[in-house]
Amino acid sequence: MEQGKREACERYVAELFAPEDEILAELRLAIRRAGLPEIQISADEGKLLQVLLQAIGARLVIELGTLGGYSAIWMARALPSDGRLITIEKEADRAELARDFIARAGLAERVEVRVGDALPLLEQLAAEGPFDAAFIDADKAGYPSYLEWCAGNVRSGGLVIADNAFKGGRVLEGDTQDPGVIGIQEFNRRVARDARFTSIVVPTRDGVAIALVN
Ligand code: MG
Repeated sequence: MEQGKREACERYVAELFAPEDEILAELRLAIRRAGLPEIQISADEGKLLQVLLQAIGARLVIELGTLGGYSAIWMARALPSDGRLITIEKEADRAELARDFIARAGLAERVEVRVGDALPLLEQLAAEGPFDAAFIDADKAGYPSYLEWCAGNVRSGGLVIADNAFKGGRVLEGDTQDPGVIGIQEFNRRVARDARFTSIVVPTRDGVAIALVN
């Protein structure tokens, strides 16, 4: 399919299957106004997360990399009323924006934002698992470590989902020194070949890796 038609089809899917409500649209604007990087997932990816979480009956989910809470809101809406999403974020200002919008979306009971470096937080969080699903969308150099943590802390039959599997196309670079690109390459290799997972990358905006924990 030619590029223009492909983009039109993507818009068609987003409009038909994943319309944003006011809160999500406002959050997208707030992220822009705050000068934060506009790297949140797209609405169709949000809907994909919802389908996946509901398919496995997820009740307890961990997210790595909250940003403004955009993906957290999509995911939390797919959980039962007694479900929980714990989302971790390194930057305090992003966490504050996320908490604000999560509360406005009526999801404060269901979503907890924790601030700090991922690895020490994950160490503590291990005691609160096992988790039904993990969504990784944090620093790319850390992806292989995050995958290892998920392998031990997401239940069998659960999902490890990761954004930016293409790293803007840079995943194809053969001789990169960029730690982020290397992190994604290593993550993809491991998740593709490791017998602990059954996995695929869905070629959305920047690629979403989906790994079922065996
Ligand atoms: Mg991302």
